[in-house]
Amino acid sequence: TFRTLRPTPTGLFPVRQLMFRRRIAVIGAGAAGLVAARELRREGHGVVVFERGDSVGGTWVYTPAVESDPLSLDSNRKVVHSSLYDSLRTNLPRECMGFSDYPFVAITENSDNDHRRFPGHPEVLRYLEDFSRDADVNGMVRFRTEVVSVEMEGEGRWAVRSRKIDDGLTGDESEVYDGIVVCNGHHTEPRVAEIPGIEIWPGKQIHSHNYRIPQPFLGQVVVVIGGSASAVDISRDIAGFAKEVHVASRSHCVENPMKQPGYDNLWLHSMIESTNSDGTVVFQDGSSAHVDVIMHCTGYKYHFPFLKTDGIIDVDDNRVSSLYKHVFPPFFAPYISFIGIPWKVVPFPLCELQSKWVAGVLSGRIALPTPEEMMEDIKSFYLELEQAARPRRYTHNIADYQFDYDDWLASQCGCPPVEEWRKQMYEATAKNRVARPESYRDQWDDDDLVAAAHQDFKKFLF
Ligand code: FAD
Repeated sequence: TFRTLRPTPTGLFPVRQLMFRRRIAVIGAGAAGLVAARELRREGHGVVVFERGDSVGGTWVYTPAVESDPLSLDSNRKVVHSSLYDSLRTNLPRECMGFSDYPFVAITENSDNDHRRFPGHPEVLRYLEDFSRDADVNGMVRFRTEVVSVEMEGEGRWAVRSRKIDDGLTGDESEVYDGIVVCNGHHTEPRVAEIPGIEIWPGKQIHSHNYRIPQPFLGQVVVVIGGSASAVDISRDIAGFAKEVHVASRSHCVENPMKQPGYDNLWLHSMIESTNSDGTVVFQDGSSAHVDVIMHCTGYKYHFPFLKTDGIIDVDDNRVSSLYKHVFPPFFAPYISFIGIPWKVVPFPLCELQSKWVAGVLSGRIALPTPEEMMEDIKSFYLELEQAARPRRYTHNIADYQFDYDDWLASQCGCPPVEEWRKQMYEATAKNRVARPESYRDQWDDDDLVAAAHQDFKKFLF
C-alpha cells in the first residue's frame, strides 16, 4: 500500500548563490513546461508560463475531438494538441516515468484512481495536475494564451507576442522577457509516409494524431504504417473491430506476411510497394489487399511556428539545428532553450534535468562553453551521426545513450545521477515488451526493482 504524497519543496537556492534573476517566458504547460517553471522559480527567476489550452498536462489532456483534415496537412485547420487515443495505457512503468522527487505512485486513498503499474492516460494527467498544484506552478500559468511570435530584440531581450483565446474575444499582447524556454511539445504536427501511387489510390487516409477509438473501423480493411508503440497499440485496438489489419513497417524484415499470434485478422508485412487505383495495396513481401483505410503511425515533426529567428534556429528533416546537447542554440544561449526535444527516452526525468541545467545556466551558477566551442561540439556530433549513417531525422533519438546524457546533465547541475533501479527498470521493460508484446503491461519479472524504487520513494512520501 502507498501513502499520501507530500508536497514537493519549492524553496529557493540560497540567495548568495544567485548571480542573475531573470524574467523568463516558458511556452507550454505540459510535463516539460511544468517542471521547467518549478526549476526556474527554485533558482530565483520570475516565470510566466504561456499555455494555449485551458488546463495543465499538455499531451495528456485527452480529447475526443479530432482535426478537420484526418492527415493534418491543411495549414488552416484548427489544431488539436493531444494525440492520445482513448484506450492508451503508458508504455513505461509508472515508477520509471515520474519526476525524481515526486514519485508517480498509486494513491490508494482514492479508489477512483487507476492503480495499475502501466496506467491509462487519465492517471498520468492526474499525476501532472497534482505535481502542478503541489509545486505551486498553477499560479504562474496564463491559460488560454497562445504565443504567436518570439523575436530577439537584443542580447537577452525577447519580444513575446501572445494572443488571449477567450470566448471568441481575442486580443494580442506584446511583452519583453530576458529569456525563453520552449516547451511546446513535439507530438502534434504529423509526419506522413510517402507512398508510391497514393495520388490515385481511392481509399481514406488518417494519421494516428487523429485516431481516438476503433469503432469507426468496424468491418473495414486497414493498413497501419509504422513500427512504434502507437502502431503496435492502434493495430491491436482496431483488430477488435476491423475485418483485417495489415501492419506495414520498415522494421519488419518478413519475406511473407506474418499472422500475429492470438489474432486471426492481424498481419505483419514489410513496407508498402505500391497503391493502385483499384484500391489495392501491394506490400514489398509480394502480398496485397484491397484496403479501405491507411493509418499513418509515422510520428511527428518538431514545429515552432512562433519562432522568428531568421532561420538561425531551423528544423531540417526533423533535426532542430543547431542545439548544444539538444537544448541551447549556441549563439542565442542561454537566452533561449528547448526542453524535451530528445525522443525514445523517459521524458519526465529528462525534462527535469534539462530544466535544472537551463535554470542554473540562466542564473550564472552553471557555466556554458563559449558559442564557438558549443558549435564545435555540435559539428562533431553531426559528423558522428553521419559516419554511423544515421538519418538526419534521428538526430534527437538518443535511445542508445539517454542515461549517459541524463547523468551528464546531472553532473553539470551538481545532482546525483539517475537512480540505478530506474535504468535497470527501463531495460527490463524493453526486454519484457519484446518477450510479452500482448501482456507486458500486466505481467513482469522485475518486482525487485519495483521494491527498490519504493524504498527510494520513502524520502518523498509520508
Ligand atoms: P506536451 O505535453 O505536448 O505539452 C506542450 C504544451 O505546450 C501543450 O499544453 C500545448 O497546448 C502548449 N503549447 C504549444 N504551443 C503553444 C503556444 N504557441 N502557445 C502556448 N502554448 C503552447 N511519455 C511517457 O513518459 N510515457 C508514456 O507512456 C508515453 N506515451 C505516449 C503516447 C503518445 C501517443 C504520445 C503522443 C506521447 C507519449 N509520451 C509518453 C510522451 C509524452 O509526449 C511526454 O510524456 C510528455 O508529456 C511531453 O511533454 P511536453 O511538455 O514536452 O509536451
